[in-house]
Formats: sequence, C-alpha cells, structure tokens
Amino acid sequence: MTSLASRVFFRVDRVCRHLPVVLNTFLVFSITGEVSYLVLVEPSLEADQNKTVWSAWWKAVHLLAQYFMLGNICWNALLFLRTSPSIKGVFLGGQGMGQGWRYCYTCETHTPPRCSHCYDCKVCVLRRDHHCVFFGQCVGFRNYRYFLCCLFFMWSGLLYATLMNAEVFIVILKEGVTMHSVLLLLIPWIMLVSGQVSARAFAFAFIADTCVVGFLLVSAFFFFHLFLMFRGQTTREWYSTRRPYNLGLLGNLRHALGLRWYLCWLCPLIPSPVPGDGINFQVTGSLEPTR
Ligand SMILES: [Zn+2]
Ligand SMILES: [Zn+2]
Repeated sequence: MTSLASRVFFRVDRVCRHLPVVLNTFLVFSITGEVSYLVLVEPSLEADQNKTVWSAWWKAVHLLAQYFMLGNICWNALLFLRTSPSIKGVFLGGQGMGQGWRYCYTCETHTPPRCSHCYDCKVCVLRRDHHCVFFGQCVGFRNYRYFLCCLFFMWSGLLYATLMNAEVFIVILKEGVTMHSVLLLLIPWIMLVSGQVSARAFAFAFIADTCVVGFLLVSAFFFFHLFLMFRGQTTREWYSTRRPYNLGLLGNLRHALGLRWYLCWLCPLIPSPVPGDGINFQVTGSLEPTR
C-alpha cells in the first residue's frame, strides 16, 4: 500500500514538475499562431471591418521575425534544459579547498565558492543563480547563457505580440468602455463559460491578455537579470548583498555570455566559450555583506 502511494506520489510529482514547461510551450505556440493569423488573415475581430492591407513582402518580414524569435526561444530553452549546471561529472578534487569552499552534507562533498545545493534538483549547482520554476531546472554556470538569451527572445517576442494585439484591444473597446468589453478583457474564461461571447472572441481576448500579462512578468525578470549580469552578481549574492566577483562591465558580460557575447545571442549555435571553470573565481571585493 505504501509502495503504491509512493509510486502515485512520484508520478504526480513528475507531472507537476513538467507542467510549467508544457504550459509555457502551449502559450508560446498559441501566441505565435495568433500573431501569424493577424498578419496573414485579418487583423480585426469582425469580418466587416476594414483590413489593414499589407504587401506580401511586409507580411514575409513579419513572419520571418516571428519565427526567428520562436526558433531562438525553443532552441535556447532546449539547450538550457539539456545542459546540466550541477557538479555531477565535474572533477572538484585537487582544486585546493580555500576561501569560500563548503561541505554539502546531502551530496557528501566539498563544494567550491558560488556553488550551492538545490533541494528541487537534489544536487549542488556550480555558480548557482536560482531554481527556475518555469523550466524546472537550476540556472548555473554552464546554462546561464541559454537562460538569458531565452529570456531576451521571450521579452522581445511578447513586446512584438503585445503591439500586434493592440488592434484586438482597439476592436474590443471600440464600442466604448462597456461592462461587456471590460469583462471580456478581465475575465474571458467566465464570459465564455456563461455564453456571453463566442469562442473566437474569447480566443483573441485571452491571447491578447496573456501577451500583456506575460510581457509585464517577463520584463521584470529580464531587466532584473540584465541588471545582475552587468553587476557580475548571482540572485543569491544580490539577496545577501554581496558582490565580491565584479569584473567590470565587459568582464561580467564575458563571464555571463562567453567570449563572443556581442554575437552569441543571435543564435544558440554560435560558439561562445565562457572563461573559467565554474570552480575558481577571481575575488575583487569583500566576501562579507555590504549592508
Ligand atoms: Zn549538495
Ligand atoms: Zn534546482
């Protein structure tokens, strides 16, 4: 009985871990599908309204930009998930355990500075930034570049989708700010279930809402991580107000995105080796909290 319960719990735990990735993938593809539809078919909710006439090449430019962003989001996300940031398979011995080294009782090993144990991943992670709940994996030394690039393309994609959806908002609010239009934008699910709107109007309102909410959320994450990248700090170090590994703007960029930092964000396949080994770090400031 206990083994059945633990098996069920293990299955539920696994499904829950993958749920955010599945949900995010669904939303990213739905938004791309909707903006492609807006470009190719019609930019308005109602068929009798005047269409914005775009030339074929302008439509092609839009579609190219959309699929370039989608490709970069998916590819970076895939490489992020496939690149383990943990200490597994990393030779830590013989490094001379000096300042900043600790002992992890769970992994039963000495761990280098900036490394910490993740209780979700159940392993120590090199230069651990944080555990990303959307991906179900830690952001660390080896996969930081993919995380940042994925975040950048999600941010630019959502900014683009929000601008493209401005017309949907205009159409919904065209009749004036009525209770019906406000409710459709605020609670589209309830409006659909109660039969107040068509499935088509719901889909447009839901995706337009998701774009705005997603854009605000991703903007906060993106600019926070950009700020940390320029400061050469991890989220954990920012929390504890420590900044001992700052290498200057250029040095911090190189250590986050690699030696080809100016180019690598264009495509995850562009090689950009990150200096260092994730074990030894140049200390440039006080290891004590500044506050
Ligand atoms: Zn550990
Ligand atoms: Zn983790």
